[in-house]
Amino acid sequence: MAHLHLTQDAVHVAGAGPAGLATAITLARAGRRVVVHEAHPTVGARFRRDLQGLENWTTDEDVLEWLRRLGITTAFAARPCHAGTAFDARGRAYAVRSRLPLFYMVERGPDPGSLDAALLAQARALGAEVRFGSRLDRLGGVGVLALGPRAADAIAVGYHFDTTMRDGFWILCDDDVAPKGYAYLLVMNGRGTVKSCMFADFKRESLYVERTVAAFERLADLKMVAPQRHGGVGNFRVPDSALSGGHPLAGEQAGFQDTLWGFGMRFAITSGVLAARSVLEGIDYDALWRRELMPWLQASVVNRVLYERCGNGGYVWLLRAQRSSGDARRFLRWLYRPGFATRLLLPWARARYRSRRHDLACNHADCTCIWCRCRDEYA
Ligand SMILES: Cc1cc2nc3c(=O)[nH]c(=O)nc-3n(C[C@H](O)[C@H](O)[C@H](O)COP(=O)(O)OP(=O)(O)OC[C@H]3O[C@@H](n4cnc5c(N)ncnc54)[C@H](O)[C@@H]3O)c2cc1C
Repeated sequence: MAHLHLTQDAVHVAGAGPAGLATAITLARAGRRVVVHEAHPTVGARFRRDLQGLENWTTDEDVLEWLRRLGITTAFAARPCHAGTAFDARGRAYAVRSRLPLFYMVERGPDPGSLDAALLAQARALGAEVRFGSRLDRLGGVGVLALGPRAADAIAVGYHFDTTMRDGFWILCDDDVAPKGYAYLLVMNGRGTVKSCMFADFKRESLYVERTVAAFERLADLKMVAPQRHGGVGNFRVPDSALSGGHPLAGEQAGFQDTLWGFGMRFAITSGVLAARSVLEGIDYDALWRRELMPWLQASVVNRVLYERCGNGGYVWLLRAQRSSGDARRFLRWLYRPGFATRLLLPWARARYRSRRHDLACNHADCTCIWCRCRDEYA
């Protein structure tokens, strides 16, 4: 493990996920020397050809336009998804349609065409140095910490596979298959991902994965060739401060995530760009993310607490409501947008939501160690 003290004016970024690479791209574009340290030998190692959705409902502006406006590459394979099918616990189907793409399906991991590979190529083209196999446990001087999740508030477990299925997406809302979450099946260009995304009862994950596969075989004619087990964790938290030892924390390292359903990529990229701006312009990072991200984080906490109270009956209401709205993107825009209801329900929701990020072993008051989980709990 490296223990880094900086003697030069390079900005060191720990972690080459979307948050760290967005930081590096923004800094390098502004002419700063950047060194990115990635513990694994490749980018996207924890995702390996995972398919994910780059959500397109939190802004009116298309997410690809939004990325370009931030100066972030869109040179990755992205399938616009307008139409899919959601199912309730009784197997009833609900069309999910939107005029504009609801989300773009992207691949994660090191392969060509993936989001991670494109971000890496852009960072390098702008002059950032990326050191693989470089695990940091401490950082001195000027740096940004973007090391991904530190605890599991949710897990998504299932398989990656090859398939002859057509491209598309399928969702299942059933607490017996994905407790307090949802199961999903994504297919793009002969590759697929099927997962149970659960927010409770992690110990019985194998059972839920089995049920997820069986359900999609029945409901969507799932066909897996050469399935490989895959899973990951998500860490959701609204921190008091996203500074540790004076370093900005970007992405899931800070707990920045969509607490409702785990659409964390845009939070990761936005916070990466903000962390870079705070370094470049000497602006208080906490002030930046609080202005840009806090209302969305808070709305997602309120939505999570409400969703957890839904149960299978409530999911039916939600699925019907999105169908009746006629446009799933507009519906999710309404659901995710912070507003009066968020402010009204926030104190109630805060009292009921608690991130699992908690390390009772640590009693440091103001430590700088990357692994420490002692930062203030949800405010
Ligand atoms: C199974 C699964 C499915 C998901 N699906 C979606 C989806 O459909 N849509 C969506 O928007 N989001 C999705 N997410 C969430 C999304 O992937 C994350 O929010 C996003 O990747 C967070 O980016 P990050 O840069 O903060 O962290 P990461 O992507 O985790 O990157 C952190 C990097 O830091 C490196 N690192 C860790 N420790 C060290 C160290 N000490 N030194 C150096 N490097 C280190 C890691 O190896 C890693 O490469 C999903 C997550 C999972 C697990």
